[in-house]
Amino acid sequence: MEVTNKYVAIKAQVDGAPEESDFEFKTELISLTVKPGSKDIIIKNLYVSIDPYQVNRMKTLSDSQKTSEFAVGIKPGEVIDAYGVGKVVASGNQEFEKGDYVVGLISWGEYSISKGVILSKLDPMGLPLSYHVGLLGLSGLTAYAGLFEICKPKKGEKVFVSAASGSVGNLVGQYAKLFGCYVVGCAGSPKKVKLLKEKLGFDEAFNYKEETDLNLALQRYFPEGIDIYFDNVGAGMLEAAILNMNLKGRVAVCGVISEYTDTGKRAAPDMLNIIYKRISIQGFLAGDYMSLFPEFASMTIDHVRTGKMHVLEDVSIGLETVPSAFVGLFHGYNVGKRIVQVSED
Ligand code: NAP
Repeated sequence: MEVTNKYVAIKAQVDGAPEESDFEFKTELISLTVKPGSKDIIIKNLYVSIDPYQVNRMKTLSDSQKTSEFAVGIKPGEVIDAYGVGKVVASGNQEFEKGDYVVGLISWGEYSISKGVILSKLDPMGLPLSYHVGLLGLSGLTAYAGLFEICKPKKGEKVFVSAASGSVGNLVGQYAKLFGCYVVGCAGSPKKVKLLKEKLGFDEAFNYKEETDLNLALQRYFPEGIDIYFDNVGAGMLEAAILNMNLKGRVAVCGVISEYTDTGKRAAPDMLNIIYKRISIQGFLAGDYMSLFPEFASMTIDHVRTGKMHVLEDVSIGLETVPSAFVGLFHGYNVGKRIVQVSED
């Protein structure tokens, strides 16, 4: 049987801040049966992840595009692959059967045709399917690996996280609190600040958009200095954090969202501070830490089931919402993990 697969594509390379008009919906005819001898897996997409890094794939040129399978450039009109959860409709690959739930690289479309690369069978373990896109997907693993492997916290240490109400940031703060650290987050609205302090248990939070001097803001929240900075935004916030780091402080450079859409913005941290305070600054990619998945998933599920961790999701319904959901990331419209539910199970 053939069906029309609707998918989201870019009309042209996107080199500045993305706008909804940069996207279009395209259709293609696909067969829902697998040809004899083919190893294809045909998947009905259920939930797809909406992530800031996709904008770097949409650019004419970005060094990030040469670094990993996840980051390769996207051409106008092409299907855009993205992390998500789906259900197998037909499979020529003996590891997958019709009716299996799968998690991994699918696409911003109604259906995906996978070769089985970066795709695994999913046991939902009684949890909502959307949890496997964010909390137990790459956002969760990013938060876990970045905090525990890169920053190596000690109980009582002082942790600062930016974009703290976002998908990765909220989990970093929650893990660090549960581990016994002092945690301060920054976010872009009073509502987000309230959420961090009152619901997620951050010790302090502030709205960076209301601060005229980020260095002074950090001095106020960290009178004894910062031991760990989990950077999601880059630019001025990274510079201010470096000025406030303690001796042997650690910075995990997870993302620099404020630099993705504004090439004029680049962090120029005070190098003397880095040298004399022996600060480590390390970039990382979650995909390099897949071996941590079992310990990360087991700890996270345990915290969620015992009510120690909150799950922050921001789910919109229908493939048509993908462009607005994506564009909104760069304006701070999301609270927690942004996901689009493409179809009902
Ligand atoms: P997210 O935080 O859920 O969404 C993006 C948030 O960034 C927005 O809600 C907004 O919150 C903030 N933001 C947007 N533009 C900003 C700007 N110009 N300055 C400061 N803040 C801005 O996204 P996420 O998925 O958790 O990703 C967070 C960061 O981690 C991104 O940089 C992403 O690329 C990176 N990341 C890295 C890896 C890795 O493997 N290294 C994996 C996943 C994500 P406010 O309202 O607070 O401004």
